[in-house]
Amino acid sequence: MNGPEITVEVAPELRLFVPHERRGGPTPLVTDGASTLGHVIESLGIPLTEAGTLLVNGDPVARSHVPGPGEHVDVRAVERPQQLPGAPLRFLLDVHLGTLARRLRLLGVDAAYENEDIGDPALAALSARERRVLLSRDRGLLRRREIWAGAYVYSDRPQEQLRDVLGRFAPALAPWTRCTACNGALAVAAKDTVSGLLERGTQEAYDVFAQCTRCDRVYWRGAHHGHLETIVSEAVREFGGATA
Ligand SMILES: [Zn+2]
Repeated sequence: MNGPEITVEVAPELRLFVPHERRGGPTPLVTDGASTLGHVIESLGIPLTEAGTLLVNGDPVARSHVPGPGEHVDVRAVERPQQLPGAPLRFLLDVHLGTLARRLRLLGVDAAYENEDIGDPALAALSARERRVLLSRDRGLLRRREIWAGAYVYSDRPQEQLRDVLGRFAPALAPWTRCTACNGALAVAAKDTVSGLLERGTQEAYDVFAQCTRCDRVYWRGAHHGHLETIVSEAVREFGGATA
């Protein structure tokens, strides 16, 4: 490119996305003089889902701003908690985030997830159709224009992924109200209506049951392994919400 030279400074949280030589502080960049700031940021490797306020010489500008010679651009990280317009907060997770999907459901957060890889175009279309925030570690997927909203998941460890998403979007928590297998809502079930689905020992030991309204899977108090209880209690302690 042979256009104006600008200076770009990327927030520390976003430096993992940019080439190594741009991670230290402000660096010069020659643009083509026609591209928007949004395009320039994407071409550096930063998904636009992760860019927050953009400053030119200290003043906020829109992504459609076309940078001119000598401008100093600050790229801030997205604000936490992030506010999204309209629509109840719902998520869609890509095929690599099954454990995170189950943990969000455990906390009552609406988290759609396909066990099979349905492909990027289908995922993006689903995000648009159902107005779901697409969660992914795939930058290419997050660049797709048709997604309604998206967020990069910063860690590859489920425990940190959960903290990342809860901290970023602050969803209302309602533990033990959603089926971890299919994302359906749970409803209280009378013992005699579900007894045919239970082993004898479970029938005798428990009285309070819930059943998935979508896949009929039955849940009961005490069915949860200790580590699920720990996930719930830690999430509730740190991120609030009601306990079921
Ligand atoms: Zn279910």
